[in-house]
Amino acid sequence: MTTLHDIAEQIAKCEKCPLHYSRKHPVPGEGSSNAKIMFIGEAPGYHEDRQGRPFVGASGRLLEELLNNVGIQRQDVFITNVVKCRPPGNRDPEPEEIAACRPYLEQQIDIIQPKLIVTLGRFSMQRYFPKASISRIHGQPKREGDRIYYPMFHPAAALHQPRWRTALEDDVRKIPELIAELESATADNSVDQDEDDQFEQLSFF
Ligand code: SF4
Repeated sequence: MTTLHDIAEQIAKCEKCPLHYSRKHPVPGEGSSNAKIMFIGEAPGYHEDRQGRPFVGASGRLLEELLNNVGIQRQDVFITNVVKCRPPGNRDPEPEEIAACRPYLEQQIDIIQPKLIVTLGRFSMQRYFPKASISRIHGQPKREGDRIYYPMFHPAAALHQPRWRTALEDDVRKIPELIAELESATADNSVDQDEDDQFEQLSFF
């Protein structure tokens, strides 16, 4: 069975798009393989490229601070990006680069099976909310089966625009409610399942 470590090793050797030419270190992502929450940003920046870790610069510190304010620790979540290597000069990732890197993200999601996927910024948002505008839909969760997709502003944008910072703070504050909602739905389903099992056992006799 493929593990997160296997995927990180594949990424370290990956030459599927031109971003491998300029990277110092690939940044596969990090966090718990049992994380209920997965954050997906855009691409590694300067500090991430130097350290091979996601969200370690100023925007990472802001994200961590806001999560800590609502009782969520960084080590309990999984954090990654839509592309795993830094675009030169921090330019936007190209559609072909996002497409080339997509299988790694798909595999990470398959392994972790997060209950809540939080998109940070428009590049990861577009994956689940095509053609949407981040300023319109941020903070509006979309539920699909047992999973919630939740778009938020990228912390880097929030560092530059005070009103987006307020929006980001408000949106982060809703995360514990979303997790509680998912947990209560899971608990209801398991009660229903128990009742079904009991009914089946009773009807057996
Ligand atoms: S960005 Fe993704 S697809 Fe491109 S070289 Fe890095 S790991 Fe490979």
